Amino acid sequence: MKKKLFIPGPVNVSEDVLKKMSIPMIGHRSKDASILQKNISQKMMQLMYTKNQIMLSTSSGSGLMEGAVRSCTQKRAAVFSIGAFGDRWYKMATSNGVPADKFSSEWGSPTTAKMVDTALSTGKYDLITITHNETSTGVMNPVDEIAAVVKKYPEVVFCLDTVSSLGGTKIEVDQLGVDLCITSTQKCLGLPPGMSICSISEKAIAAAKKVENRGLYFDLLAMYECIIKKDHQYPSTPSLSHMFALDYQLDKILEEGLENRFMRHKEMAKYVRNWARENFDLFANEKYASNTLTTVKNSKFISVADLTEKLEEYGYSISNGYGNLKEKTFRIAHMAETTLDEVKELLDTIDEILNI
Ligand SMILES: *Cc1c(COP(=O)(O)O)cnc(C)c1O
Repeated sequence: MKKKLFIPGPVNVSEDVLKKMSIPMIGHRSKDASILQKNISQKMMQLMYTKNQIMLSTSSGSGLMEGAVRSCTQKRAAVFSIGAFGDRWYKMATSNGVPADKFSSEWGSPTTAKMVDTALSTGKYDLITITHNETSTGVMNPVDEIAAVVKKYPEVVFCLDTVSSLGGTKIEVDQLGVDLCITSTQKCLGLPPGMSICSISEKAIAAAKKVENRGLYFDLLAMYECIIKKDHQYPSTPSLSHMFALDYQLDKILEEGLENRFMRHKEMAKYVRNWARENFDLFANEKYASNTLTTVKNSKFISVADLTEKLEEYGYSISNGYGNLKEKTFRIAHMAETTLDEVKELLDTIDEILNI
């Protein structure tokens, strides 16, 4: 049976988008490959509200996250963590020998502008990483407030993980002053996993030029220079199949209208949050609850494993809690092409299973 996915990636992909994955290959050094990259970039710039260069990576988002800390940190990175994906960014830094400090918030709480100000005011850091939307806890960070503080430190490269939010909520890269905005295809963009996308600023490029050991596959400077010098191509062979599908899906996203798309996500989030409050509790601090997924606190101490198993029989997938939050929470994603009606169907089914 075909499953309806309410897990935070991979998400359901429309049939017509899936079909684009099977378009016959073209040469990755052909003129057509350059045109394809340029078309994608032009549309991604609209979705990211940026004039910065767009780069594609044939890897999931983790690749670009690792590439960002490694390629652009000269001195020391300040990694702000509000959950599992922030913790992972810290590991990416240290395991690459990049000096870094981690600033953690209690799970369920955001990174505050004050925390960022305190850290950056020491002058120790030349790069900072922020998780926009933490997929383990369901917290969406107050990025406007954080960005306002980061602007006080023009020497710092601002990296933002928007893997589980870009395409589902408005992120204005240029206005926020984000130097590296990173996302993946398999979450709010509604594509199969296997490609990731970032915007890169002049400041990030200049920083990378001063870093000696940037690695090879995720050397962001090498990627950038190839785009500039080889007419929008890549050092190695990109997943052209993803590029065909992405080019097409971005047309669909722009056709829906960005404001409409963001509104649809907000409405789904509001509905799921109300349901969660009525029947369980929210794990995230209410004020910072995510628009793209909800982490429900298992305040009724049900067996989450039993619930997810039963839901599978009905054709639905949701996620148990992440890591230590397993059984203590469960997660319902409301992202990409999912509709409010589909969310209602899922929650009605959960009500039926749990008899609530
Ligand atoms: C999924 C996710 C990642 C990891 O992305 P991959 O594409 O799986 O490598 C990183 N950060 C956040 C917030 C995520 O949700």
